[in-house]
Amino acid sequence: MKLLLATHNDHKTQEIRDILLASGLSIELHSLRDLGDMEEIPETGNTLAENAYQKAKTGYERHGINCFADDTGLEVEALGGAPGVYSARFAGPQCSSKDNIERLLGELEGVANRRARFRTVISLIMGGKEYQFDGEVRGEIVKELRGQEGFGYDPIFLPEKSDLTFAEMSEEDKNRISHRGKAIQKLIEFLENNR
Ligand code: IMP
Repeated sequence: MKLLLATHNDHKTQEIRDILLASGLSIELHSLRDLGDMEEIPETGNTLAENAYQKAKTGYERHGINCFADDTGLEVEALGGAPGVYSARFAGPQCSSKDNIERLLGELEGVANRRARFRTVISLIMGGKEYQFDGEVRGEIVKELRGQEGFGYDPIFLPEKSDLTFAEMSEEDKNRISHRGKAIQKLIEFLENNR
């Protein structure tokens, strides 16, 4: 089965490739980069579901290959669910992960409630029809960056029942409990039943 993943994020592609490989499903996974497509993908929705759909549909229409995309948000309770769908641009339009982390830690300075969750929605366009899968992981925002693995907000996210932040875990351990890992497991189950 041939599938396109509509993202330019190499970390994300690697995580997803590894989860699919471990599942034993025989999938030929292509990223946009593999196809030489470096054109920006629009991401203008107001929800994770809208953005995931927009990205998957763009990939499907550009390349004519069954395509999926994920959209992820970090929702912090004390900030009313922010940054949520705006997680990538929390510190401004061209900001880095370091800028986003700095802003988040700044906003949470002196705040006792550090509860947060990551939520992922995956949109799959197969044969022109859309299917969605979601996953979440609860945890808290630590006060200082910890660990070198992963990407994005991983150094400040401590999942429930763990002593290690996502950035202190192996990719395999993160995938086992993460928002994206759970959503991908649902995608895998769907693909197994709809080959
Ligand atoms: P997007 O879904 O690729 O648009 O990601 C939204 C934002 O969340 C970006 O700032 C990512 O770096 C961040 N992000 C997405 N997935 C993860 C993750 O698994 N860990 C930490 N940060 C993430």
